[in-house]
Amino acid sequence: MDNDKRLIWLGGKLIPVNEAKINVLSPTSQFGANVFEGIRCYWNEDKQQLYAFRLADHYKRLQNSIKIFRMKSPYTDEDFLKGLVDVVKANGYKEDIQVRQTVFIDGLGGTWSSCEPVNMFIAPIPRGRTLIEGKKGLRCQVSSWERISDRNLSPRAKVGANYINSRMAHLEAQQNGYDTAILLNDNGKVAEGPGSCFFMVRDNTLVTPPCTASVLESITRDTIIRIARDLLNIKTVERDIDRTELYICDEAFLCGSAMEITQVINIDGYPVADGECGQITKRLFDTYYEVLTGKHAEYSEWLTPIY
Ligand code: PMP
Repeated sequence: MDNDKRLIWLGGKLIPVNEAKINVLSPTSQFGANVFEGIRCYWNEDKQQLYAFRLADHYKRLQNSIKIFRMKSPYTDEDFLKGLVDVVKANGYKEDIQVRQTVFIDGLGGTWSSCEPVNMFIAPIPRGRTLIEGKKGLRCQVSSWERISDRNLSPRAKVGANYINSRMAHLEAQQNGYDTAILLNDNGKVAEGPGSCFFMVRDNTLVTPPCTASVLESITRDTIIRIARDLLNIKTVERDIDRTELYICDEAFLCGSAMEITQVINIDGYPVADGECGQITKRLFDTYYEVLTGKHAEYSEWLTPIY
C-alpha cells in the first residue's frame, strides 16, 4: 500500500495520513506532552492472520505513563484495543507493521502544565523484520550524555520528551563515527540504548541492568528474560553493569519492539568477543522469532489476532 494513502486513527476518526493534523500550539507540539507505545504486529502467512505482540502489556505501560504525567485521559484499555484494530483493519495490512499509539495533550490554549484535553492518534507503519544473518551488528559508543533518571525525567515512562536525551546520545555517537550509543545512568552504571535495552553475556549468563537503573520497563527485555529461562535454560542476572564490563563481555545486544534483537559487535573501539554475532544472541534471536510467530503455544496469550 502507498504509505501516503494510509489511514490514521485520530480522535475517533479514520483520516488519510496527510489530513491528520494537530494544532501547532498544542502542548504536545510545543512541549512534547505525549506518551506513546510502539507496538509490533507480525503477519502469519500460514494462518493468514496478523498478530499484535503483547498488547495488554503495552496498554498497561501506556496507562502507567498517563498516570505518572497526570494526564486526564478518557481512554480505557478497550478503547486502545478497538482503535488499533479499527485502523489496522481499515488499512487491510497483510504484512509486518509497527503501530505508533500516542496519547497527547491537545488544544490550543494549553501550557506545559496542562492535563487536558487528552486526545489520541494511532498510526500503522509498515516495518519489516530485523535480520540477524548477514548483518554486521552495531558499533556503539558509551555516551558522554547521562541517561535521564527518576530524579528528573523518569525513563520508566514512555513520554515523547524523553527522546531528546536519546537524540543527543545517538547523534553524538553517529557524529563520532559509531552506529549508536549506550548511556550510563546517574550512578555511572550502564543504563540502556537511546531506544532499546541492553544485555550482555558473561560466562554463559545473560546480564542486564535492573528496572531501577534508569531504563524503560521494556516489553522485549521481559520477553527475553522469560524465553531465555523457560525455553533455553539460560539464566538472566539483573544487576548493575560497570562500563569496563562492556569491554570484556562475551556477547552484547540491544533490544526493543522496533529493533527486536540486534547484536553489538564493538563498544568504544573494543571488539565484543571476535566481533561476530555470539551463539547465545543467535539462539535468543531465533527463539524470539518463533515466539512472535506463534510457534510456542505456551505464549499464545501474547498474540492478539487482528482479523
Ligand atoms: N528503552 C527505550 C529508551 C526505548 O525507547 C525502548 C523502545 N520502546 C526500549 C527501551 C525497549 O522497549 P520495548 O521492548 O518495550 O519496545
